[in-house]
Amino acid sequence: MTANNKSSLLYKDASRHYIWPQLSKEEIVRGVPVILSGGEGVRVRTVDGDEYLDLMSTTARASTLGYGNERMVDAVTSQLRTLHYGGTANFQADVTIELAKRLAGLAPGELSATYFVGSGSEANEAAIKLAHLYQRSAGAKPRAYKVIARWNAYHGSAGGAMGASDWLGVRHPSEPGYPGYSRVPAPTCYRFPIGSTEAEYADICADMLEQQIIHEGPELVSAVIAEPIMQANGVQIPADGYLQRVREICDRHGVLMIADEVISCFGRTGELFALNHWRVEPDIMTMSKALTAGYMPLGATMVTSRIHEAVDGFPDIHTYGGHPGSAVASMTMIDIVEEEDLVARSASLGRTALRLLSGCEELEIVGQIRGRGLWVAVDFTSDPQSRALPEPTMLENIVQRTRDLGALVSQNGTAIEIAPPLVITEADLETGIAMFRQAIEEANKQRASYPAAGGAVE
Ligand code: PLP
Repeated sequence: MTANNKSSLLYKDASRHYIWPQLSKEEIVRGVPVILSGGEGVRVRTVDGDEYLDLMSTTARASTLGYGNERMVDAVTSQLRTLHYGGTANFQADVTIELAKRLAGLAPGELSATYFVGSGSEANEAAIKLAHLYQRSAGAKPRAYKVIARWNAYHGSAGGAMGASDWLGVRHPSEPGYPGYSRVPAPTCYRFPIGSTEAEYADICADMLEQQIIHEGPELVSAVIAEPIMQANGVQIPADGYLQRVREICDRHGVLMIADEVISCFGRTGELFALNHWRVEPDIMTMSKALTAGYMPLGATMVTSRIHEAVDGFPDIHTYGGHPGSAVASMTMIDIVEEEDLVARSASLGRTALRLLSGCEELEIVGQIRGRGLWVAVDFTSDPQSRALPEPTMLENIVQRTRDLGALVSQNGTAIEIAPPLVITEADLETGIAMFRQAIEEANKQRASYPAAGGAVE
């Protein structure tokens, strides 16, 4: 694989003239793009004729059912023949209502009513607007407009969702951004202040959240938004008790808790929703990605019956929100997940993945290996003693080498992730992880050539 293959030439030419690449033009020039032309099961083909085992459910971790699932394709095609579009406002497709009923039966706690949009960003945007409306409608906090988010979070590219985000690569270009947002530290695995443990740091983070609400003025704070398992720097699993404390703090100050499950919903973490690991019930929950397993675009914002009853109307229109094709894709996805017991499968294959990677922690360049369900991260370092940040080119080289060996994995800050389709077989998982592991071991042998990136433990 070279930087002059057909994929590279196509994408570089296209990004110069007629497509805006997501992320940066510079990244397209530096990396080796993959232009997909087909896929089957857990394998994808490129315009260059290369085939890869996709350990990422496509880079955005949406394709939880893999590629070419006939049942999904048939269900969507048949719906498009029957009613391809249902309109907005007073017009709605019957299947969209059916999906809303099914979601109400599956979502945690009192979540019961769904607002449909087209993406995860839009779902978070709607969540924030609904939180403000509720606070005003219920009369308790007529002036509440502030949202508290967390360091390193990503909630999407639309205005308010971006306002809540802290992924600097996408946040900086949109600054100064929206007023009313502030951010507090989120619990992190592996890198946290010297002298504390993961659990102690998580407790400090919860304390800081409460202090921030008090500092901003509880009567002005509408909501806290958080990914239950944060993706920044790879699968940040909060210490037990943290999310329960967030729930208690929100309740104490009349602040709504928004759980962003855009990336973690429908089995990714070995539970139907990531919050289920801790039995925490949010006031608002957002979903996308696995919601249709990537077969159609869809986002959803679920609220509790209390919010649904208090907010009279939500004048917010999305032409394609709850598109009938997407609704049917989502219901078919739910059928498949239930019939094939994919949530339990994700939990058990996740344990297999951790076992297949075990021993790698002994390598100098590996800091920590962690995961929940089929969402696993290997966090790297340039110095295991100080946990210093890894050299970025080392991670790029491992991702590229794994690709050359035949599997797709993704870098996420200091970590490299795998998040395969939930339908992957154990044999394919073993094959893919063997490729990833080989790339890590080779990089470890070459580690002397990677200068320390510097940066103390954060
Ligand atoms: N929230 C989380 C946790 C995400 O991972 C993403 C996308 O990666 C989003 C929101 C934004 O979703 P979308 O890209 O569908 O707008």
